[in-house]
Amino acid sequence: MADDFDIDVLVIGTGAAGLSAALQASDDPNLSVVLVDSEDHVGGASAWSTGIVMAAGTEFQAAEGISDTAEELSREYQVLNNWEVLPAIANRLAYDSGPTISWLVGLGAKCTGIIFAGDERVPRAHVFEGLGANIVDVLFAEVKRRRNVDVVLKTRVTELLRDDAGRVVGALAGDEKMRSRATILATGGFGANRMLLKEHFPRAHAADDWLWYVGPPSSRGDGLVMAAQAGADITGHDNGVLRLRANFTHENEGAYLPGWMVVVNSQGRRYMDEMSPYNVAEAVTSAQSGPVFALWDDRTKREAQPGTTAQHRKVNFPEGHPWEDFVEPVIDEMVEIGNVHVAQSIPELADKLGIPAPALTATLETYNADCHCGRDRFFDKQAPVFKTVATPPFYATELRLWHMPLTAVGPQIDADARVLDRHWNSIPGLYAAGEVTGGVVGKHYVGSGNAYANALVFGRRAGQTAASDLT
Ligand SMILES: Cc1cc2nc3c(=O)[nH]c(=O)nc-3n(C[C@H](O)[C@H](O)[C@H](O)COP(=O)(O)OP(=O)(O)OC[C@H]3O[C@@H](n4cnc5c(N)ncnc54)[C@H](O)[C@@H]3O)c2cc1C
Repeated sequence: MADDFDIDVLVIGTGAAGLSAALQASDDPNLSVVLVDSEDHVGGASAWSTGIVMAAGTEFQAAEGISDTAEELSREYQVLNNWEVLPAIANRLAYDSGPTISWLVGLGAKCTGIIFAGDERVPRAHVFEGLGANIVDVLFAEVKRRRNVDVVLKTRVTELLRDDAGRVVGALAGDEKMRSRATILATGGFGANRMLLKEHFPRAHAADDWLWYVGPPSSRGDGLVMAAQAGADITGHDNGVLRLRANFTHENEGAYLPGWMVVVNSQGRRYMDEMSPYNVAEAVTSAQSGPVFALWDDRTKREAQPGTTAQHRKVNFPEGHPWEDFVEPVIDEMVEIGNVHVAQSIPELADKLGIPAPALTATLETYNADCHCGRDRFFDKQAPVFKTVATPPFYATELRLWHMPLTAVGPQIDADARVLDRHWNSIPGLYAAGEVTGGVVGKHYVGSGNAYANALVFGRRAGQTAASDLT
């Protein structure tokens, strides 16, 4: 270590990305690694997370007879993201995903199964015992075994230090200078920062007072701000995940709408298969102008069962995830407090929603006719949850994209996790990984596990690159 540096590798943030980076960098016993976190505990959003990890070509898929390759994942990733994610990034994510699962399992994490989590071609979502919190525990247990890693908590980094040539040479936490030869930003997203959401994720900001970030208060976007000050190219404007929900309860994690409802836009037209995976529902809803609404009738309310879409699509989330919001007692409660509108006729309902009555009437006539013949002519919704809207009273509630698990705007990195400036030259001494970055999780969330895979894969890569740049 050069005399004027205190630390070889400084890792800012102790979520899945930071812990993975510290482990990889400290594989070289000659390097000193310091992990710093603003909170009094490790883990960030990673410890709150369901911890599903997307990966292709793994031993666990093979054991289930699932044929999949990194090449197929990379291709699908790029197509779903309109080829806007750099191919080198998509390839890195896909090709490192399988080895990362093996690495995690080698450290002691227990993969309990592969689930189909959404719209992927084959099941790729790896579920771990104890969910995200246990992945953090496994990584942190290994960090504690490393003699060359120090962990410093309750220390919020406020600025990156740069020398005259623009090289990042450490960070400032209050008055304390931490001078490091390599600095890895792993500070997570900015879901808890309304100002940054307004600027960088306006689709989320548009949810207004409904908006709910489901992660920890430490997701303040400090890393995004520090990277921008250091000259990084900030990329991924308006990217992140928003789930389409009614304004019912904050205890519910349900990611899918019940298939029996009819969703219409402000012109009174259907615009999607109501059983769409949450990433698809997000994309098509973002393209609507004006509010959107879910409708159903009294018979459906009386027969409502939780989790119809998840069950039907065989979306098999880990146990403990409730799907209880669209059931009769909750709907009645929401009618009571005015969250659900009730009307004796469709024109009256249209009037309450502020949408054209003739259009809504025509939409429901078509829908009801399709229900009777068992075929959704326009959206191919599947028959088992096809319910007419014919028995008064009729119900409707507004839906918004407001349930936010993650953001995806931040510094652009290359495939080796080096932070790039606006001319796409790497900023010497600076690396980034996980939710703090932009340009990895793209415009369309590819499915459950995309973000945790990002944190683990690029966290590991940042640690490896920083270490190899120093030796
Ligand atoms: C409830 C929930 C469920 C989710 N489920 C899934 C899922 O199943 N699959 C999936 O792929 N994704 C999921 N996600 C998203 C995914 O978990 C996250 O994107 C990922 O874990 C982020 O990891 P990270 O290491 O980049 O950031 P984090 O885990 O948030 O870690 C960042 C760390 O940086 C620290 N920090 C921040 N600012 C500073 C500072 N200035 N100085 C020092 N330290 C700082 C924080 O305290 C924190 O410890 C979920 C998210 C949530 C909230």
